[in-house]
Amino acid sequence: MVKIGSHVSFSNKGLLNAANEAAGYGSGTFMFYTGAPQNTRRKPIEEQFIEEGKAVMAEHDMGEIVVHAPYIINLGSYKSNTFQLAVDFLQEEIRRTDYVGVRNIVLHPGAYTDKDAEFGIARIAEGLNEVLAGTDSSGVSIALETMAGKGTEIGRSFEEIAAIMDKVEDNSRLTVCFDTCHVHDAGYDIIDDFDGVIEQFDRIVGLDRLAVLHLNDSKNPRGAGKDRHAPVGSGWIGFDAMQRIVHHDAVKHVPMILETPWIGKDAKKQRPMYAAEIALLLGEEEKRFGSAFLEDIERLAHFFRKEEIDRRAYVLDTWTMLKSDAKARKADPREPIERLYDMAVEHRVLPDLSEEELNHRLTAWLARSGQ
Ligand code: FE
Ligand code: FE
Ligand code: ZN
Repeated sequence: MVKIGSHVSFSNKGLLNAANEAAGYGSGTFMFYTGAPQNTRRKPIEEQFIEEGKAVMAEHDMGEIVVHAPYIINLGSYKSNTFQLAVDFLQEEIRRTDYVGVRNIVLHPGAYTDKDAEFGIARIAEGLNEVLAGTDSSGVSIALETMAGKGTEIGRSFEEIAAIMDKVEDNSRLTVCFDTCHVHDAGYDIIDDFDGVIEQFDRIVGLDRLAVLHLNDSKNPRGAGKDRHAPVGSGWIGFDAMQRIVHHDAVKHVPMILETPWIGKDAKKQRPMYAAEIALLLGEEEKRFGSAFLEDIERLAHFFRKEEIDRRAYVLDTWTMLKSDAKARKADPREPIERLYDMAVEHRVLPDLSEEELNHRLTAWLARSGQ
């Protein structure tokens, strides 16, 4: 069974909070930071409602869950204080992860800043050797995340991931988190040749290392090296490719985590599309939202047909315009889904729905193939 979930909050009642939020989206898994990702303050893990959270997970038939290491950790840093903080804090996070009973902690390998990639890879391996040796009683694996190649980050190619693994003495507790947006942005053709990408991954890293999938669409074309996530279906990867990936034999057994942006016109009231994205990727939108939901999508489809809007062409043309025409972008910076939302509101297509409900249905309309 494919298990899809999202990034959720571990605040207040820790795992109980996280599991309840995930259940609200209809998730089969989820991912969380054990505390604020930008600092090292942590509440004791023993007080994070672990048993209560696990009861909610069992009730909703959730599978394996995932922890994400805080992004202040940079094992690639040449600065001894930054490096040592990264080593120490990652070890603590692994102990916390182990306490919750989670098998994989996702880690951005690191950035080489003022040095070079070769230095970064060696430094990251040095850090991982220390971290793994210092946590050898734990059953937690470190899942190195494939990166988009922004700035000086390491992990932009399968070769870089493999090079780190090769330099780690005992790499049996190293796994990989495959992020669809990042791999696409790094230049791999996961849209038209996911089989080929998986074949490369298997040859260079080994499919047995694959432990987590991050499911994100991308605001940029393949190879852009940017790392900007889009809701599933509203970016360059598109729903059809995302759905093929989710159900691909090579990956369908691993926890799949959405890290897609929350949307809405008022930044303070933005909502996630997770519930819709999960239901659509699993083909369970009617089961989740009822038959009225399908009728609403039909209304939207009818409206956009009348407006002569082809969904894929519209999404890609809008992103292309925003990227290539600075003047037009300045005049109107709205992203594709916001433009579609405004059109639907202006023409009062589904006037009784909340912004979130309409955005769920727009996400669903974007996920339909053909006309
Ligand atoms: Fe990440
Ligand atoms: Fe990610
Ligand atoms: Zn990212």
